[in-house]
Amino acid sequence: MAFKTDIEIAREAQKRPIMEIGEKLGIPAEHLLPYGHDKAKVSQEFIRSLEGGKDGKLILVTAINPTPAGEGKTTTTVGLGDGLNRIGKKAVICIREASLGPNFGMKGGAAGGGYAQVVPMEEMNLHFTGDFHAITSAHNLLSAMIDNHIYWGNALEIDTRRVSWRRVMDMNDRALRQINVSLGGVANGFPREAGFDITVASEVMAILCLAKDLGDLQKRLGDIVVAYRRDKSPVYARDIKADGAMTVLLKDAMQPNLVQTLENNPAFVHGGPFANIAHGCNSVIATKTALKLGDYVVTEAGFGADLGAEKFFDIKCRKAGLKPAAAVIVATVRAMKMNGGVAKADLGGENVDAVKKGCPNLGRHIANVKSFGVPVVVAINHFYSDTDAEVAAVKAYVAEQGAEAILCKHWANGSAGIEDLARKVVEMAESGSANFAPIYPDEMPLFQKIETIAKRIYHADEVLADKSIRDQLKAWEEAGYGHLPVCMAKTQYSFSTDPNRRGAPTGHSVPVREVRLSAGAGFIVVICGEIMTMPGLPKVPSAEVIRLNEAGQVEGLF
Ligand code: ADP
Ligand code: MG
Repeated sequence: MAFKTDIEIAREAQKRPIMEIGEKLGIPAEHLLPYGHDKAKVSQEFIRSLEGGKDGKLILVTAINPTPAGEGKTTTTVGLGDGLNRIGKKAVICIREASLGPNFGMKGGAAGGGYAQVVPMEEMNLHFTGDFHAITSAHNLLSAMIDNHIYWGNALEIDTRRVSWRRVMDMNDRALRQINVSLGGVANGFPREAGFDITVASEVMAILCLAKDLGDLQKRLGDIVVAYRRDKSPVYARDIKADGAMTVLLKDAMQPNLVQTLENNPAFVHGGPFANIAHGCNSVIATKTALKLGDYVVTEAGFGADLGAEKFFDIKCRKAGLKPAAAVIVATVRAMKMNGGVAKADLGGENVDAVKKGCPNLGRHIANVKSFGVPVVVAINHFYSDTDAEVAAVKAYVAEQGAEAILCKHWANGSAGIEDLARKVVEMAESGSANFAPIYPDEMPLFQKIETIAKRIYHADEVLADKSIRDQLKAWEEAGYGHLPVCMAKTQYSFSTDPNRRGAPTGHSVPVREVRLSAGAGFIVVICGEIMTMPGLPKVPSAEVIRLNEAGQVEGLF
């Protein structure tokens, strides 16, 4: 069976002018700031004018632990948005922007797939409306101002060995992970070690995605801890006087981007923080704007539900006062088989036993999401190779868990393939059965917050942390940061910290290697295992085959 590629399907899209898409949502033309004919930003004034209006229902799309077989969260988010529109509901989609770097490595795009995509997908995956460039610039302005401050006499007495603010760029470039700066003599400042992260790992990205408005943005930028003095006291971005200029660089990037699906339904694509050292969701401002404009807002959280949904609930929803009405957990037959121990190369043939063996992974995610007080439905994202018996096995298992699994064919058929899920989501959201609450209170001590997540979500026995880490957490509590949520950074492939332990492991420990304060974003990052903040390119990067064809179209991106 030959299928069209995502980019071939996207190229055939019958796009409507973006002003028309905005009109569907009631956004007046003067408040849509067009970036070409198929992208627009929504003005700050219009967003402010929506305050006090009624909110639609928020639907989270999350997933089982990912496997190399792929789950299709974005594809299902887009498909469900189209499906809700198809059954007559006013639905808006909210997803993240794509990082440029990984597209030249080996990641696919971030616009969905098959007949459930957002367009223009080439631009979404390249420069788009320039938001990530603005974030890169704002971040690096602060970096430059720190070294400049040190150069001109270092009045703040920054310990140059303890500058924690690095530089960023939106490229996979392992050569820049650790570097020396200010080399070359007196005129170039004081040499010190530094390094680059990828833009999506910048705290500025997380801040932009959590800020309520421009005022809140500037306050949070000022709160960033950039370095420490010899007495270990923090130096803030505010002390460097960078927060005002950074806000100026970010003022346009703070306005959500409106685009459309292949079926001409509205989608906000805005922000894209890492899902490990940050919270992995699109911007609060886009989600809140969408809730004012639509009756249903479908949004995605990165990675599996153990990381993505937990952070969506405990960080984004807690901080933004959002109350999700329902959650969809995406599962695939292929990923169930891999969780059941089948190797990727052997996924081809029917294997009902392996599907059954892998299902406990799904079962634990169902129970976890329910424990936040959010009703759950499972979407089986149908792949061409799935057999009826395999699908039936997943459905039977989910029914035993007190939930329903619905077969969805949006990748192949667009909205027509996902009507059943759309109807079920409406039924759940309208039933009023959601009673959302984060799983730990603000006032719980930081270490206990980590333990709560490890035990209740990961089913670990214990959290292991050296005295130095516990002391650091205590010190932050004393400095007034104890009320912050924790942002767990661990492998996305397992409930445990070992990527090879698939299924639903128990009896494991969660070792904490490092903790970091993201004072501007407003969370404490808890690093459990190796976390890469500047990816590298693979041996054969996809950049080698990306090119313009004779018609001037982009080839090889996906
Ligand atoms: P996620 O958001 O979970 O990372 P995506 O929705 O971005 O996943 O999908 C990843 C890739 O898998 C995309 O290239 C998409 O086209 C492909 N894909 C998703 N669903 C299906 C499906 N049902 N059949 C075939 N390919 C699919
Ligand atoms: Mg995705």
